Amino acid sequence: MARIDFPEEVKRLIQNLKRLPGVGPKSAERIAVWLLGQSSEFSEELATAIKESGEGIRACGICGFFESKATGCALCADGGRDSAVLCVVEQPTDVLPLERTGAFKGAYHCLGGRIAPLENIGPEDLRIDALVARLSEGEVSELILAVGSDVEGEATANYLAELMRRSFPELEVSRLAQGLPAGGGLENADELTLYRALDGRRRV
Ligand code: ZN
Repeated sequence: MARIDFPEEVKRLIQNLKRLPGVGPKSAERIAVWLLGQSSEFSEELATAIKESGEGIRACGICGFFESKATGCALCADGGRDSAVLCVVEQPTDVLPLERTGAFKGAYHCLGGRIAPLENIGPEDLRIDALVARLSEGEVSELILAVGSDVEGEATANYLAELMRRSFPELEVSRLAQGLPAGGGLENADELTLYRALDGRRRV
């Protein structure tokens, strides 16, 4: 007697769902069964949304934020920003909590990660060349390092601060004030904490 399992189509769906962050085998099964109960319009809309965001979104060549192939980069298109102040973050998603504080009106630069020797991520894997290219244009007078307060964030901030001292000595470089959760990235900080950290940034 064969051991009965889900049909192949459903097994494939479960296998794919299990690859999503934070989704374990049980959740993957639950989501798959839930999806089976939805209308075909919903399934098609979901599949299209996944496909189109995968194909239509890339990192902006200038700032590293999400760029839509159809509508461009919202940050770089925003002429109302103070281009003299540049805030360096690890991930494009770090821009969103900072924007919600309403405390920052300057430009951003997303590194696309942080220096993590244990994961074999070095400075050359980050968008540091693109940062140097922007700074070489001479418009930026203040650089805010808004990277995480964990070991990798510290390493990244120290590397960048040293690079700036050597290459752009006239640049004012500051680091977000402490108050950010120790060992945490920006995505876990609440708006008030981020606002205070930005307001109380210290020169490095
Ligand atoms: Zn951009």
